[in-house]
Amino acid sequence: MDLRRIILIHPGREGRVFGKAPSPSYTLMRLASLVPDDLAVEIWDENLEPLDRKILAELGTHDIVGLTSKTLAIETAERFCRLAHRAGVKYVAVGGAHATLMPEDVMRWADVVFTGEAYFTWPQFIQDVLNDTVKPHYNDTQWADLAGIARLTDRVIRQMDENRNYWTPLLEITRGCPRNCSFCTAIRVSGQKMRFRPVEEIIEEIKRRKINRFFLTDDNFGLAFRLRPDYIEELFLALEKLPLRGWTTQAELMVSQFPELLDLARRAHLDKFFLGFESVNPKNRRELGGKSKGQTAQYREAINAVHKHGIGVVGLFVYGFDEDTPETMWQTWDFAQQAKLDSMSQTILTPYPGTPFRAQLIEENRLIPDMPWRVYDTAHITYYPKQMSVADFAREYDKVCKTVYHPYRIATRGLRALLRVSQYSVSAVPRKVFSSFSTDYGYKRTFDWRNVSP
Ligand code: SF4
Repeated sequence: MDLRRIILIHPGREGRVFGKAPSPSYTLMRLASLVPDDLAVEIWDENLEPLDRKILAELGTHDIVGLTSKTLAIETAERFCRLAHRAGVKYVAVGGAHATLMPEDVMRWADVVFTGEAYFTWPQFIQDVLNDTVKPHYNDTQWADLAGIARLTDRVIRQMDENRNYWTPLLEITRGCPRNCSFCTAIRVSGQKMRFRPVEEIIEEIKRRKINRFFLTDDNFGLAFRLRPDYIEELFLALEKLPLRGWTTQAELMVSQFPELLDLARRAHLDKFFLGFESVNPKNRRELGGKSKGQTAQYREAINAVHKHGIGVVGLFVYGFDEDTPETMWQTWDFAQQAKLDSMSQTILTPYPGTPFRAQLIEENRLIPDMPWRVYDTAHITYYPKQMSVADFAREYDKVCKTVYHPYRIATRGLRALLRVSQYSVSAVPRKVFSSFSTDYGYKRTFDWRNVSP
């Protein structure tokens, strides 16, 4: 095929907030970087501009399209695929979490489906396009060594212009998680062996991208405190030397057991941990994969220990486990207030494809029929809970979210976080204003979506 351009599309729904989109697609930045230099490549992000008309107007028979999509955006990806076909595009290739976990769903409409990480199959596909030997399915079965993999190219960095277009650039340091939470898609997509990028590559990338804040895409960065403390120490000492405004990451509560590393973390400009407590209900511990046990006293100790080092804590909670009742949500809110969490994420347990939780629900005939994938956004109920009706669950969830994300409460938590920062460095306060309020604000927007989408 005579190939003119490769267009990589990121379906989004957040749009711009005060002129910038929340985050770019790190996956597409890497895939774009694997395109040979002599081929043109562009990333189109629906969060930056509407794409329907652009696809029809600008794409043609000499272009190919690559789409990456989570489950909640897969219907948008399907619409883009139809539009691209109308514009004359021969190959629309689709990968990402949903395609990996449920390839048969995507094969119905995509020309080419990618399962797995695609670092090896994506370049192969491009060669196959040039040679007219394209296959309908590319399955990457390797868990790539992260050293040297898909180094971001300067042309992709220039094109993304992250500081102008995005609030929070993404970065990867580790990938994979050895835990086994029954509802988790990350381990099905990234594997259960934790992999690590070389520290010098991380630092080099941050410098070349000229980013001064980022959120880690890592599945469970905090577990590296236990698995590779030497690596974490080396990383933090290197990050300390960079002029960063701050960064954030997901972790689990055992990070609190490493005071020396927490001290280094603060010096390395870490703003806050997103700690996966998941539930305050100890009866749910079987489903929590061993990282949390629903013991609030233990959670409180961990939060205090992290706060003591000047690092914020965002609590991640999931509602709707089989032992949960409407009271569980209010108990969680009580706990969050007592523990002085800096922010809290409240999500509804969601039976994503490929998870044991979904398999269990199918076996028990508890999936709500005909739910579109776009409501698989952790803010909608997609199955019949055990201890409460769908209506009770939805009503109480709405109430607790309105309470938690009330502007007064967001302001209170934000100011408290700023005060904590000022104990360590008054001069750092202006730099931390954004991070003190942005997380809560983001969760409020997610919750607001619940009421505008079906
Ligand atoms: S700890 Fe987090 S990343 Fe690991 S299996 Fe559980 S939910 Fe998934």
